Amino acid sequence: MKQSCIIVTGASRGIGAAIAESLAQAGFMVGCLSRSGDLPHRPDASEEVRQRWLAAACDVTDAEAVRAAMQDIDARCGVPVAGLVNNAGIHLEGKSDTFPLDQYEQVMRTNATSVLIGSQSVFPLLREQGGLIVNIGSFFDKMGVKRNLAYCASKAAVGAITRCLAVEWASAGIRVIDVAPGYIATDLNRDSMASGPLRAFLEKRIPRGEPGTAEEVGTLVTQLFAMPCHFLSGETIYIDGAQGIAH
Ligand code: NDP
Repeated sequence: MKQSCIIVTGASRGIGAAIAESLAQAGFMVGCLSRSGDLPHRPDASEEVRQRWLAAACDVTDAEAVRAAMQDIDARCGVPVAGLVNNAGIHLEGKSDTFPLDQYEQVMRTNATSVLIGSQSVFPLLREQGGLIVNIGSFFDKMGVKRNLAYCASKAAVGAITRCLAVEWASAGIRVIDVAPGYIATDLNRDSMASGPLRAFLEKRIPRGEPGTAEEVGTLVTQLFAMPCHFLSGETIYIDGAQGIAH
């Protein structure tokens, strides 16, 4: 699979940028999608890694734009597209009794509908030789979290979409896996994690006492693309330092 290209959404920052760096370090070409169209913000990335990155701008909620961006990457990368990481996501929170419906719909469309949009867009590119789609979920997918109804619902939907596509597209040689991180310090939550009640909560609730890193998620995702384990599909793999099962 190494002489191939993996497309990563939300690759400009955070977990997506770390995944893009890790995949390029392993020898993959990487199509890097985000609204800004910026290359991954990874200041220490080597020149060799940077040469394996191709950026394209699109909003993951816009099906036509996503399809066009993937076709652009496919035309430019010079090797077959063999996979997709549906990583782009947002986090909006608020009390459920007054949470604005437009914000609920924005979270669902950005975090969950985008997974279907991305998967449908990459399907024609994978149909010939098969491939792997990794969806970035969250350990919130099976939790009830105050003020996080939309986010939890969107990530539960990511798990369900993963299972359905894994079953339906197995005959096309396409595997689909949900990688569900616990707390990872990124732009998404850096401020709330730095101090205050969330920091105290994390220190108490995460068995190892601190959040995970984007690099750890990048390593796991890259291993999934690198390992020849064709019976692994439809699963949700938690990378959360055992927080999701801690009591
Ligand atoms: P960041 O906010 O750091 O980065 C989000 C990335 O997504 C950016 O590259 C952003 O780029 C892109 N993005 C956001 N909205 C859109 C959009 N509509 N269209 C295209 N690109 C978009 O987030 P994280 O790296 O923390 O999160 C990445 C994924 O990991 C998300 O799905 C998140 O839910 C999940 N996750 C994160 C956890 C954490 O603790 N951080 C824990 C569990 C899951 P741009 O602004 O240029 O579009």
